[in-house]
Amino acid sequence: MAYQHLWIDNTPVDLPVGKVVCVGRNYAEHARELGNEVPDSPILFMKPATALAPFNDHIVIPTDQGEVHHEIEIAVLVREPLHQATAREVQYSLAGYALALDLTLRDVQNALKEKGQPWERAKAFDGACPISGFVDARGISVRQPLELSLRINSDVRQQGSTAQMLFPIFELVAHISNTFTLNPGDVVLTGTPAGVGPLQPGDQLEARMGNLLTVTGAIAG
Ligand code: ZN
Repeated sequence: MAYQHLWIDNTPVDLPVGKVVCVGRNYAEHARELGNEVPDSPILFMKPATALAPFNDHIVIPTDQGEVHHEIEIAVLVREPLHQATAREVQYSLAGYALALDLTLRDVQNALKEKGQPWERAKAFDGACPISGFVDARGISVRQPLELSLRINSDVRQQGSTAQMLFPIFELVAHISNTFTLNPGDVVLTGTPAGVGPLQPGDQLEARMGNLLTVTGAIAG
């Protein structure tokens, strides 16, 4: 069945499925672990709607192109069109928050980087963005930092807080809207904290966003 945005109670979100805009190196620790400079403006790339897939017990990853890394990220769903928006406009234009994996073919990405080529082959393939159901944005306090974490087979592999973001969520989405108009149903992935690493078939995943959302999944074996 084709992917559709869902609320956390599994009911459908009344929005179309659009593009996914992503940011690289939004947490300084993660930039450093890959040996990258901390950027002074957000590094943006996109995944097409065909990259979206449910975060569930059957996450399919490519098995013949080297390492596939997990990058756990907070995802936001856009409810109103955003074009050259301010951070304040963004705050009132989001439908919900979810947890997503920015799946990355790391060996492929490193080869592309060396050649100065775009990253799509490494990050935009079918199923490259498993995403959970959305928590209604109206229930989320924007004043408190949000914690996020990813456990794999019970080990905490990634852990961070939105307080560590170089570009906070509303500012980031506002910045993006100056380059890419965001339409209702588009998703923005807000970057990954340190601790990325390879996934293996059979891995059991548990991702958390504060006390708002816990999701479990597994890599298909
Ligand atoms: Zn990422």
